[in-house]
Amino acid sequence: MSAYETASQQLKVAAEHLNLDMATLDVLSRPKRELQVSFSIKMDNGQQRVFTGYRVQHNDARGPYKGGIRYHPAVEINEVRALAMWMTWKTAVLNIPYGGAKGGVTCNPKEMSKPELERLTRKYTAMIFPIIGPYTDIPAPDVYTDPQTMAWIMDTYSKMVGYQVPAVVTGKPISLGGSRGRATSTSRGVIVAAKEAAKTFRRGLAGRGIAVQGYGNVGANAAIIGREYGAKIVAVSDSKGGIYNERGLNPLDVLKHKERTGSVVGFPGTKEISNEELLEVPCDILIPSALEGQIRSENAGKIQAKIIVEGANGPTTPEADRILFDRGVMVVPDILANGGGVLVSYFEWVQNLSRLYWTEEEVNKRLEKKMREAFLEVYDISKSKDVDLRTAALILSVGRVVEAMKLAGEFF
Ligand code: NAD
Repeated sequence: MSAYETASQQLKVAAEHLNLDMATLDVLSRPKRELQVSFSIKMDNGQQRVFTGYRVQHNDARGPYKGGIRYHPAVEINEVRALAMWMTWKTAVLNIPYGGAKGGVTCNPKEMSKPELERLTRKYTAMIFPIIGPYTDIPAPDVYTDPQTMAWIMDTYSKMVGYQVPAVVTGKPISLGGSRGRATSTSRGVIVAAKEAAKTFRRGLAGRGIAVQGYGNVGANAAIIGREYGAKIVAVSDSKGGIYNERGLNPLDVLKHKERTGSVVGFPGTKEISNEELLEVPCDILIPSALEGQIRSENAGKIQAKIIVEGANGPTTPEADRILFDRGVMVVPDILANGGGVLVSYFEWVQNLSRLYWTEEEVNKRLEKKMREAFLEVYDISKSKDVDLRTAALILSVGRVVEAMKLAGEFF
């Protein structure tokens, strides 16, 4: 099933619970605007190369479009459409005043030099310039784009309008108006969601065993922050394999080991396990933070964790969702669990527009409050309607978007 089919199916489930009419479902199934661009840049070897890029704006009923920009060889229009729709639900479930969008360029950034990436970013920005802006559509980083990419987008946009516009993108370097706390915000949100989920099983994170799949930006920081909250990190993995120690690991030392050797594997005092085994180790909380489609019908029955918190986008298939729900395993869905990143993006935008900058403590305090509130709202719906948290999160978010659309009424 493609990401877009999954997203459409999820929307239909929420629409049934909300008794949405066909016309509304039809409107929500399609992006409001799609821009496809082709542009060429000069490569380092002097040759011109043509690239295709996209910016898909799904819905702006609740505020300006918001969503990341992905550089990857697999970027294609249907994937961008699905990711744009998920952004609409993510901003709505967190109750921040944004809609949803996503962009991307089909390219392999691993094979490109930094000057080539800068030229690609500036050209792409110029091509999508007519539809982005601080009050219309605000991009952010996604897979293989980072604060440097955002700095180039901001600079290109600013040069084109003639003055500095930091609020046109989020995820910028701090010296260009980025927010403190943004770099670890997704992981902090994941851990707050994990804590709230654990509390519904009678106690918080202290002493709980956590297994983390993927040791990149989201996974490594989730392990580090999880330990700060008193949890015991029993297993972690990356693309080369995993490690396990039931007595717990020091995630900062594991990160240093990975930086030195290129992998978490081989960290002293641990048992080597495969990525499949990592998902099935004895633990209280599992945090998939790598790729989509990791928890499927074949392994959903073997997972020992009572709580799964989706750091990654789309790590659980719909069939696995059903098996886990029947087994009483709580899955905190991606649109809620990893929303800390877009939440602090929103804080960054607010700081840019007000020209008033917050301390890291202030950012973290606001992040924790918003994540807690969103979790509890979703949890209450799941209990009252006897549905899993994913369905509950969609009922809440789709309901909010539809309410905004109906109140605004028809234009023309
Ligand atoms: P990243 O590239 O920094 O890290 C990915 C990690 O996964 C790496 O350690 C890599 O080795 C590992 N990995 C790759 N293949 C694997 C496999 N088969 N098994 C186990 N590990 C594997 O990426 P990231 O920014 O941490 O993003 C991870 C996920 O979180 C993605 O799904 C992304 O869309 C999602 N996400 C990220 C953010 C964010 O702020 N970075 C926000 C929301 C969602």
